[in-house]
Amino acid sequence: MSRLKKAAKKVPVIDPYLPHNGNFGYRVSRYELDLEYKVAINRLAGSATITAVTLAELRTFTLDLSSALAVTKVSVNGRRPAAFSCSSGKLRITLSSKLPAGAAMTIEVRYGGTPRPVRSLWGEVGFEELTEGVLVAGQPNGAASWFPCDDHPSSKASYRIQIATENPYRAIANGELKSRRTRAAMTTWTYELAEPTSTYLATLQIGVYESYRLQKTPVPIHAALPARLKRNFDHDFGRQPQMMKLFVKRFGPYPLSTGYTVVVTDDDLEIPLEAQGISIFGANHCDGSGGSERLIAHELAHQWFGNSVTARRWRDIWLHEGFACYAEWLWSEESGGQTADEWAQHYYQRLVDSPQNLLLSDPGPRDMFDDRVYKRGALTLHALRQAIGDDDFFALLQDWMTRHRHSTAVTDDFTGLAANYADVSLRPLWDAWLYSTDVPAL
Ligand SMILES: [Zn+2]
Repeated sequence: MSRLKKAAKKVPVIDPYLPHNGNFGYRVSRYELDLEYKVAINRLAGSATITAVTLAELRTFTLDLSSALAVTKVSVNGRRPAAFSCSSGKLRITLSSKLPAGAAMTIEVRYGGTPRPVRSLWGEVGFEELTEGVLVAGQPNGAASWFPCDDHPSSKASYRIQIATENPYRAIANGELKSRRTRAAMTTWTYELAEPTSTYLATLQIGVYESYRLQKTPVPIHAALPARLKRNFDHDFGRQPQMMKLFVKRFGPYPLSTGYTVVVTDDDLEIPLEAQGISIFGANHCDGSGGSERLIAHELAHQWFGNSVTARRWRDIWLHEGFACYAEWLWSEESGGQTADEWAQHYYQRLVDSPQNLLLSDPGPRDMFDDRVYKRGALTLHALRQAIGDDDFFALLQDWMTRHRHSTAVTDDFTGLAANYADVSLRPLWDAWLYSTDVPAL
């Protein structure tokens, strides 16, 4: 009875794809995390200082935070709140007096516990123990597994991530390494990321890693990996400078001031993943066979599509995956492999032979990482490129990057901008590729 009542009550949500994530009433501009992590016992503790501004008169508000972590103390603007409590992945804070709309808030949360991944529709995401170390795979709702946050891609902020961990582990987080201090058995690593970044792209990687800088690249490219994989890495990841060059030429300047880092874990990973300024691969992607070059290009392209220009709602995920997949085809063509057109023909046939029940503009939460989102997304771009020609197509991609740099966008923003680059209406193309489930003629 009570359960039915609850279901019938309409609760407002930020994003129907992730109805429990994201919060109302404020906007975060910065996270400062000061954490200590003990690898041997999987224990995380510390504080998060969150700078925000209220969007409405505010007495009670929430942050996303995994129930695996316990909150010991909260202050807002230096004062203790009237109450705080944690349940169902939310930290709920009630202030002793209301704040007006437009008020600055500094929220400090002291917390700790034994972090574990968040269970989601897409498997386990977030903070995960490796055989020796840690990785954070935040997409789409894993950020709350390691810090209190407004966990939604539309909420972008700058970060300072300070993490103390045991020697000899190396800790890698987003942005520039500002300092590294060793005291007794622990080293504290401090990273600063100025560019506005969605919570799912914040990351922490800990392992017994050696750090390398790739030579002679205008955009600094770094790598962190187990020393045993260095020879494989030099072979498999050796063409990243040329990849970077191609993408800068095609998509515009690399979006971050702090360069690009590739982390290769000592464990195998099912899939590589992207974070702001960082891509994470498994040892299996660095086996010396060169078989992962497609994925290396894909993850690098996310620094433009997904990380800098981010879908405001998860239903627009093709703006990440379709574009990153198309970048794979561009790299293949550039590097002497199959041309983008050959890949398009190949995957077009695959798409025709797959169930035609996926709407690219709104695939539904269960299918948002379905391979058809990637391939149909890339094919949509290829169809667009054929319709408007190479010059306009790549000018459009650069315009897209410039306009929405470090911001968020929706599908209509892209189709609207594309209209400026076409002599004829693109509506039939969008209707066929984005807003119908049937696979149209290529
Ligand atoms: Zn991707």
